[in-house]
Amino acid sequence: MAEKRDYYEVLGVKKGADAGSIKRAYYQLAKKYHPDANPGDKEAEEHFKEVNEAYEVLSDPDKRAKYDQFGHAAFDPGAGGGGFDGGFGGFGGFGDFGDLGDILGGMFGGAFGGRSRRNGPVQGEDISVGVTVTFEEAAFGVKKDVSYNRICHCPDCKGSGAKPGTQATTCTACGGSGQVRRVQRMGGMSFQTTGTCETCRGTGRIIKEPCQKCRGSGLTRESKRLTVSIPAGIDNGQRIALSGQGNDGRNGGPSGDLIITVSVRRHALFERDGYNLLCEVPLTVAEATLGAEIKVPTLEGEVSYTIPEGTQPGTTFTLRGKGIPYINNSNRRGDLIFTVSVEIPRGLSDKQKEAMKAFADSCGEVNYAKHKQFFKKLFGQNKKD
Ligand SMILES: [Zn+2]
Ligand SMILES: [Zn+2]
Repeated sequence: MAEKRDYYEVLGVKKGADAGSIKRAYYQLAKKYHPDANPGDKEAEEHFKEVNEAYEVLSDPDKRAKYDQFGHAAFDPGAGGGGFDGGFGGFGGFGDFGDLGDILGGMFGGAFGGRSRRNGPVQGEDISVGVTVTFEEAAFGVKKDVSYNRICHCPDCKGSGAKPGTQATTCTACGGSGQVRRVQRMGGMSFQTTGTCETCRGTGRIIKEPCQKCRGSGLTRESKRLTVSIPAGIDNGQRIALSGQGNDGRNGGPSGDLIITVSVRRHALFERDGYNLLCEVPLTVAEATLGAEIKVPTLEGEVSYTIPEGTQPGTTFTLRGKGIPYINNSNRRGDLIFTVSVEIPRGLSDKQKEAMKAFADSCGEVNYAKHKQFFKKLFGQNKKD
């Protein structure tokens, strides 16, 4: 098939055209290209098909909205964007149809069903649940029980909807297709539309004795409990999909998935940066000044670390491999990066204050590089004047 023309262009209307203009444009073009008016004219026939297809979409607010958003892809079964469940491939040519009504019937009904046929397989929906884990559980992995409700095949009738021991029969009104044709008249023209079979409500099957548990629907609810493995290294907001654990499908369709969104609780000391752990470690003035062996927290407990003499606040140190395990390779881990701060002591005794003064008097400015620089900058500025 040649590349499809824009539906608005086909009908010769503007993109924002109202329903009335679209209808008027359609009637004019449908008359113009009608096969009765153009016997044997292949080009007219193509136009006629194109016009009908465009009208089918643009006259339906849902389909029109989809088309506006996705273009032709909205109705392309390969693109998965819309509810298109047939194709114009099944359109048998005009020889098979007696009048405009039949031709339109073929268009309106089968080909552009819009909603999926009720008797076709329908995939079950995905179900979303949330799970909260501690920071450590996220880092090293954990098993969690998850409870949720799902729609499942009725255990009594195995999803058939028929009372156990009985069977559903094919609907004779529609021959099992779930669709029947109806003739409508509009402004002198008759349209044959195809709609859902009322006898079987589109299922194509008649259940004489419905299953009592599911009242013939073949589906029921169950609450389910699953143990889920949360992998080491998972981060806040990440999702785990358990295939086939969502709602069961209908008419032989596959089940949906269970989607678990993981929330990770905050840690009192650590923050996560990718697979690295960040942490602030406060030092005493004496530790920072003299250097010290200090305790550093890790996810597996404290470790000793030697801080050099004269460590400044804001200095960072790295403990390799003490971060978070990689989610897809737990042999590999990030680092723990800690930043030191220096706490100035308060509430000194008189004796301690004396000692501090004696210390200050003994060292002058020479040990305070920043302090000295700060005033140099000030004097430097004054000199320029
Ligand atoms: Zn049942
Ligand atoms: Zn039927």
